[in-house]
Parts: sequence; C-alpha cells; structure tokens
Amino acid sequence: MISLPKVRLRRLLNVMGDFLFPGNCPVCEGPPYQDPNTYVCEACLDEVAWVQPNGCKRCGLPMSGLGFEGLTCAGCRESDPCFHSGRCLFVLDRTAKKLIHEIKYHGVRGVLGDMAHWLDRTPGVREFLQGSVLVPVPLHRKRMRSRGFNQSSWIAHALRKEIGAGTEVVEVLERKRDTPTQTRLDRWARKANVKNAFALKPGTSFKGETPVVLIDDVFTTGATLDSCAQVLVESGIDKVNVLALGHG
Ligand SMILES: [Zn+2]
Ligand SMILES: [Zn+2]
Repeated sequence: MISLPKVRLRRLLNVMGDFLFPGNCPVCEGPPYQDPNTYVCEACLDEVAWVQPNGCKRCGLPMSGLGFEGLTCAGCRESDPCFHSGRCLFVLDRTAKKLIHEIKYHGVRGVLGDMAHWLDRTPGVREFLQGSVLVPVPLHRKRMRSRGFNQSSWIAHALRKEIGAGTEVVEVLERKRDTPTQTRLDRWARKANVKNAFALKPGTSFKGETPVVLIDDVFTTGATLDSCAQVLVESGIDKVNVLALGHG
C-alpha cells in the first residue's frame, strides 16, 4: 500500500474530480462550462476586489480615497522593507481566499489559467513585470515534499506565460529553515520568524542589472518577501520588487 501525504492525496482526488466533473467554478460552485473561456466564472471574477494602481508605492496595498500614488502605507513606514516597490492583484476577501485556497491547498493549477483575465483587471501589472526576472518565494524541502508543488512557482510561471518574451522565472532562492506558519503572529513576530530563513542556492550567480520581482501567493505584513529581498539585495541585485496575488 503506497502512502501519500494528505495534501497530495487531496490534490490527486481534485484532479480526478475535475476530470469527471469538469469546470465547476471553485468560488460559487456554479455549473460546469458556464463560461467556456475561464476557469472561475466571469461573474465571480468580477466580484474579486481587484487592486487598482494607486496604492502604497512600496507594497501596493490599496488605500481608500483619492490620489495616494506616491505615498506609503503605515505598515511600510514602520517596517521600511528592503524591496523597492510592490504590487498585489486582489484584496484577500472571502472570494479571493477561495481562489488562493483552491491553488494552495487543493493543488488546482487550472485556476491560474485565468491569469490573462486577472491581468486585464489589474492595470499596470503587465508593465510592472515586463523584462524582469521572476523569483518565486521557495518552500522548505520538507514542505515541498508533503505538498508536492510550490504555489509561488506556479504563479511565477503563469505570469511569465502571460507577459511573454523578456520575462523569465529563475528559482535561485532556498528556504533554509522550516519556519512555523505565520497565521497567528503579529508584524514583529513574523519578521523574527523569517529572519535569515532564506539564502541563495549554492553555486548561484546572479547579475545585478535586471530588475527582479519576488513572487508569492499572499502578502500580509510583507515579512517573508522582505526577508527574501534582503538576500537578493545583499547579493548585489540593484532593484528588487515584489508581487503577491492577495493582500490581507
Ligand atoms: Zn462562479
Ligand atoms: Zn505599503
């Protein structure tokens, strides 16, 4: 009897389920093939709180009100991150959490097949990524073994596929420590939790001129992305940007 880690088994069952009952929208569980061009139905895509480009200039956090472009949010002023600037695609509300959940815990890569539709709803993100090297935030090898995939790597490849020529995905970072989950930690505890948790993979050489964009699924306080950015800045990368799908 082959024993599979729980997450992998769930992923396998999901892939089989998708094969037998194709195309159900993971957000509203609406009927298959409601919208033949998208994985998530268009009505649900319209419900996602897509971030418009006038947020915090450091992390991309949406700020309500007019004309915040060029200002930084309270979180960034407090933690002064190493990265130059950031973007996120959507606010992590109930709908968006379902998208992340579907990718990360159910292993449904098909959700990312809607990337073109996501980028159409987030003006400026294509330009932000154009010509950059995309570096996914790595998982620790233990987590990688149990999950079977790195969702940040999936996201980076989905973005590259959509942005096209001039953008590449390079997996140069490794997670040295298997850090506990950050869900219940506050800003400072998160920072301490991921401090020195990342490093360049041995034997990696990385040139400094190309802008780098670190890619993650979720931006909460930015501690993980900041810790990764620090490694790249210290290794001589001139400009490190960050992008996460969800903010919250
Ligand atoms: Zn739907
Ligand atoms: Zn900010």
